Amino acid sequence: MSIALKKIKNKLGPYFYKLAEKSQDVFWIRSPCFQRLLYVSPAYEKIWGRDCEALYNNPADWINAVVPEDRDHLRQQLMEFQANTAVGDVHIANYRIIDKAGNIHWIRDIALPIHEGTSCIGYAGIAQNITEAKPVANEINDISQFFKFFVEKISGVFWVKDSEGKKQIYISPAYEEVWGRTCESLYKDPSSWFDAVLAEDAENGKVDLNCFEKNCDYQKQTFQYRFRIRRPDGSIRWIKDTHFPIKDKEKLIGFAGIAEDVTEDALLEKELREAKENAEKANRAKSDFLAMMSHELRTPLNAILGMTQILKTSDLTDEQFDQIEVISQSGQNLLSLLNDLLDFAKLEVGKLSFSKENINLRDLVERLINDMLPQAHEKSLELRLNYAYNIPPIVIGDEKRIRQILVNLISNAIKFTGNGHVQITVTCLQRNYKEATLCFTIEDTGIGIEKSKLDTIFNRFQQVNSVYQRKHDGVGLGLSIVKELVEKMGGSTAVTSEVGVGSQFSCIIPFQLQHTSVDAQSNPVEIAIPTRESCSENTDADFHNMDILIVEDNLINQKISKILLEQVGCKVDIADCAKAAFQKVGNHYDVIFMDIGLPDMDGFEAVEHIRRREGPERHTPIVAMTAHVFAHDRQRCFDVGMDEVIAKPIMRDDLISILRRWSGRGSSGLPIVRGRRVLS
Ligand code: ADP
Repeated sequence: MSIALKKIKNKLGPYFYKLAEKSQDVFWIRSPCFQRLLYVSPAYEKIWGRDCEALYNNPADWINAVVPEDRDHLRQQLMEFQANTAVGDVHIANYRIIDKAGNIHWIRDIALPIHEGTSCIGYAGIAQNITEAKPVANEINDISQFFKFFVEKISGVFWVKDSEGKKQIYISPAYEEVWGRTCESLYKDPSSWFDAVLAEDAENGKVDLNCFEKNCDYQKQTFQYRFRIRRPDGSIRWIKDTHFPIKDKEKLIGFAGIAEDVTEDALLEKELREAKENAEKANRAKSDFLAMMSHELRTPLNAILGMTQILKTSDLTDEQFDQIEVISQSGQNLLSLLNDLLDFAKLEVGKLSFSKENINLRDLVERLINDMLPQAHEKSLELRLNYAYNIPPIVIGDEKRIRQILVNLISNAIKFTGNGHVQITVTCLQRNYKEATLCFTIEDTGIGIEKSKLDTIFNRFQQVNSVYQRKHDGVGLGLSIVKELVEKMGGSTAVTSEVGVGSQFSCIIPFQLQHTSVDAQSNPVEIAIPTRESCSENTDADFHNMDILIVEDNLINQKISKILLEQVGCKVDIADCAKAAFQKVGNHYDVIFMDIGLPDMDGFEAVEHIRRREGPERHTPIVAMTAHVFAHDRQRCFDVGMDEVIAKPIMRDDLISILRRWSGRGSSGLPIVRGRRVLS
């Protein structure tokens, strides 16, 4: 036994020395400088598998057995241990060693400085092999090491505070990068992170220094703040801080959080938001432009179509009639193109709305086919209708849109068919008490479409032939509008075709049903091709007992409406501004046609004024005449008390339908059913 050991034996006393010698754990004692080993118990040889003698000779030898991954961390702990030698300091280090046989052992080393008086005279410790005793604890320790490694590497600032949020338990090095301040400064003054927060964000509560006290609802698992900081170099950063309370068996023991620098995301978001706002602004400008253009285009079109209608009813030679027919047809084409473009624009900005009205479907389809007979007749085509018997007589939907879909498909069928027929078939695919799914099929014996083109035929601006080899009119919008309208109604479209044989377009559309509807027994209908005279509806219309007031400032429009109305027997008064209208409305009128753009005030205001003057007893039907055909314009008409809206250019047949609805139900106190009808 060496002299040093003898001294130790004396110091420990014989009992403790024996205990140390027999213990399964490794007892060790080192000099105050830690470099010299004064004592190590024999258990060292068992656990480490190395000689005690070798360790006395080289007191750092024990570290050679520590697995390389744990060495750096252990050395760091040793340094901290030697730097903190206050009385009562206890240091625990967990690490793994590998013995000569290659087995890994988990060691828990508990060390403390030994004092005599106030001076440290050395260190003593016990190294225990805890491989079997505490595997879970080891794992946790292992995991926390990994986490520590991880949080020190990530760009987010990872932080831990005590339960009052006052003591900074941990801050990851990223704090220095993001905040531009040292971690040490934060440890010293844990509230100093808040000094960087922009006053504006602190004031409006985006983040609060007292957030920990306020976060008293700890049931809420996470807290999130988004705020800006100003770094010492003056730059501004956006921070997203997410933190959560840490509990140990229901008791709050602290908070952990991660503060991320989201400046780039915030800037991107801002850019995107601005881009979206600009796009919305541009879209609004586009729809305003379209509304304005539609007005500008419809006004002269109104004049052309109105005058041709009037001319057609005068004494004309056949040749003159044909010439006027050309003008009329071209005007109609222009109008439908204008309507398509407007629909296209409205679909683009999601502004197309659908009304829900009762539709007498069979009536609608028959009238529509009747309207299209002249086109078919001109090409000697047969236009057939096959209307299934089990279709509910009244369905709920948007009559105008259904008509638009069918007109588009039938006119295409007629356009692309040289001879043969066009057949319209309406069948009921499915029906219950609430709704019915109907299938409209338009089949022709025309030129057909190549198989390779079928997939894209419903796309915008798609035409089978290129613009240079055009044989037929059109811009390739019709089918895309059909498809979008059908889909917006919850339906679907399909096409089959064979070149030289013909095409078949079908739309499946669901309709709501009236609960009370009773089926009328109807059989498949065949429609005969009528004569030219019968194409124009209401040749016998006569409304000689109706007094009409037209409020319109445009001279041409005044003239057209007046002639059209007088032709069917109405007595017509004209007011060219709102003021003139107010003077006249004291008289009895069966219907007032009101332009929206008057010189002295707009038509909405004028109608409000008229309704106020009428009081609850009277209600003269007022029909808005407008080229503004956007849904919100229509709604505004109804909101101010108008009964119908008719879009310019005004068609004779539309006027007649309106007069029919209101004849005999003027302002004289007869019950008024306030309409919500829109004609175009
Ligand atoms: P357009 O205004 O050009 O008619 P559409 O979208 O209605 O636009 O139709 C797109 C193209 O689809 C047409 O140009 C034509 O080539 C083809 N097409 C549409 N319907 C038929 C049909 N019934 N028979 C043959 N080709 C058709």
